[in-house]
Amino acid sequence: MVGIVIVSHSAKLAAGVRELAAEMSGPDVRLELAGGLDEPEALGTDAVRVAEAIARADSDDGVLVLMDLGSAVLSAETALDLVTPEQRERVLLCEAPLVEGAVAAAVAARLGKPLAEVAKEARGGLQGKTAHLGAGEPASPAPPGAAIPLEEGLTLRLDIRNPLGLHARPAARFVQTAGAFDADVGVTNLTSGRGPASGRSLNGLATLGVRQGHEILVSAHGPQAAAALAALAELAGRDFDEELAPAAAPAPTVFPTPSPAAPADAEAPLSGLPGAPGIASGPARHLRSAALEIPTGSSGDPEAEWEALEQALVLVRAEIVAVRESVAAGAGQYSAAIFDAHLLFLDDEALLGPARRAIFEEGLNAAQAWHAAAEAVAADYRSLDDDYLQARAEDLTGVARQVVAALTGDAATPSLVAPAIVVAADLTPADTAALDRELALGIATAAGSPTSHSAILARSLGIPAAVGLGEALLAVPEGTVLLLDGDAGVVYVEPEPALTRDGRLVEVVANIGSPEDVPAAIANGAEGVGLLRTEFLFLERDSMPSEAEQYATYKRIAEGLEGRPLILRTLDVGADKPLPYLPVRAESNPFLGVRGIRLALARPELLETQLRAALRAAAEYPLKVMFPMVATLEEYRQAMSVLARAREELEQAGTATPEALEVGVMIEVPAAALAAELFAPEVDFFSIGTNDLVQYTMAAERGNASVAGLADGLHPSVLRLIRIVADAAEGHGKWVGVCGELASEPLAVPVLVGLGATELSANAPAIPAVKEAVRSLDARAARALVERALGLSSAPEVRSLLEGEPAEPARTPT
Ligand code: PEP
Ligand code: MG
Repeated sequence: MVGIVIVSHSAKLAAGVRELAAEMSGPDVRLELAGGLDEPEALGTDAVRVAEAIARADSDDGVLVLMDLGSAVLSAETALDLVTPEQRERVLLCEAPLVEGAVAAAVAARLGKPLAEVAKEARGGLQGKTAHLGAGEPASPAPPGAAIPLEEGLTLRLDIRNPLGLHARPAARFVQTAGAFDADVGVTNLTSGRGPASGRSLNGLATLGVRQGHEILVSAHGPQAAAALAALAELAGRDFDEELAPAAAPAPTVFPTPSPAAPADAEAPLSGLPGAPGIASGPARHLRSAALEIPTGSSGDPEAEWEALEQALVLVRAEIVAVRESVAAGAGQYSAAIFDAHLLFLDDEALLGPARRAIFEEGLNAAQAWHAAAEAVAADYRSLDDDYLQARAEDLTGVARQVVAALTGDAATPSLVAPAIVVAADLTPADTAALDRELALGIATAAGSPTSHSAILARSLGIPAAVGLGEALLAVPEGTVLLLDGDAGVVYVEPEPALTRDGRLVEVVANIGSPEDVPAAIANGAEGVGLLRTEFLFLERDSMPSEAEQYATYKRIAEGLEGRPLILRTLDVGADKPLPYLPVRAESNPFLGVRGIRLALARPELLETQLRAALRAAAEYPLKVMFPMVATLEEYRQAMSVLARAREELEQAGTATPEALEVGVMIEVPAAALAAELFAPEVDFFSIGTNDLVQYTMAAERGNASVAGLADGLHPSVLRLIRIVADAAEGHGKWVGVCGELASEPLAVPVLVGLGATELSANAPAIPAVKEAVRSLDARAARALVERALGLSSAPEVRSLLEGEPAEPARTPT
């Protein structure tokens, strides 16, 4: 146990200090006195008496010497010349205040703390009083940041403006700054009364619970005390180098109610808190960290264990620096600074001290010692009445885990192999930073909070995240499709079809161009495929794909859809998309030439082969067919007779065909839209190809940048054509879908649904947002909106209406 020597001009004062300290610490502490002179009652100090007291107090653990003032300091210094060199090495003359220092030191010594920590406690002894009385305040209040000289040292009062107070990043900047000077820096939270804590210990500082609006007292002792305070004042003036930005918004205090966008009759979603904004959909992939194995055996050689720990710390430091660099490159320095705090954990005496003692005094191995030290500090964090600081425990355990993994050679961070929504109990910042951003579609955690560093990182990395979703999340089977709404902090398990607020079902399906597109479509929540562009099978090859080849491919796609519906659009080629093995006459205006159904009818054997393959697949899977570029009812009828022929041939050959095949017509040509009433009795459905419908309605070639402004699917003239189709369909009990690009635009969704579309076929990445747009609209209100849109005269006006902005009158006749 560390011994303590009290040096005072007054023997009575020294005795009184011992009495007080012993009262606080108990009688076991060795408190030796060097008070007064040989003559009774004489005031003064004597180096010989000090040296004798040191000798009495001495043990292998060292001696702390506390002095009152003036010659007491000189006598103590002289006494060092009078003790043996071995003793001198173990003696520390401490500048702490005598009474408070002795009490604090005695308590620390009684707890078995090493000499350095006993001295630290002694130095901090005054801060409770300063915190309580606000000592150091001059007659007129000093401005925040001003250094105030005190007898015991220098102090500084600071108002904290950072939204999350002195959380890890600003605290790390504080500790780094304080640590750069030869000075002991103490911090007390004057607002909460917590402290003092060392300003050179991240853990010490963080556990003061300094929040926005709190005032702290910083005191410094030592040769560079003034410089340290000046630097800290400057740092505080810069808000500890923190962007006071919304990214660090305080944790919401109320739990969100389930998203209002949630369909009333859908399975209840998992409700948590917003982690990072955005919507993501994909299969659940559980990332479970392997259970942390803490080896129990020890080499029996404390030096070797300590060295192993030091090496592990070096390794983890390098790992954290590498992650920091990659985060800095991807998300900027601000987010990367999270890892500065992690680096400081590796140096923090509050962890190293206990770990060192556990190794050298308790004989624990390096992993046990480090784990125990980290758990103890993490428990302190968790016990704090402050969400933000509680979340720091996870940072610390994450880093501790890395160190243990470095010691045992295990992998600390689990990884992802395919696109998925990451599901985990919680993620450390290192886990989050290590996620492959191509594969991590979203993050869902059972625990965690919006202020966790993982959530902050997810926001910076642009990965939608919902946190605090509860234990039920962990029971979701692997691969289950999840729809994650990071803004609402909600996860829908096996999301149901999108329903409007007033309960109207809108099927949201995908546009695909090959079997390879199927997984992404499903991952994004597609309820099927609304447009399979079959051209992929025909282009870039030198001969027609056979019926067998086509059948195999359609079957593969349908199989991949696992029972979801598939609409196959028959071949849409022509001079705009020429096939090398199908020479067509050059056309000066191929979009108005022999393309789509026109070519198919000109070469019916091509269409027949394709329809045979489609019929065979439709016998086994929910497959529908639709024809592109139909302008006249006659074309549709001809196509239907080719279909009838194909069916007949198959049936004659004894090949299975579906009892009924649903057949639709694409509405891409204004003539067909205008004649929808004629088509409606004969078709099963309409699918509106807005890309071509806009091109032909506006006479604005698709892909021609010069007329791109005209080619807007929200132009009222296009909407009027869609309305004609929707009305005709409704009158005959048929359904209408939209498969052009307009269906991938969330802004257009209220109009399309308001017009009567019950199916929207979108590009896979747009599907979550399209679904969200459906869920947030009211179909009746959407109808009213359509009426207003149809009364406008330009696409920009319609866009303004939909964006909720006042519509500006059209300046151009668009
Ligand atoms: C369309 O024209 O809107 C459509 C979906 O077909 P494509 O883009 O393949 O011409
Ligand atoms: Mg088209």
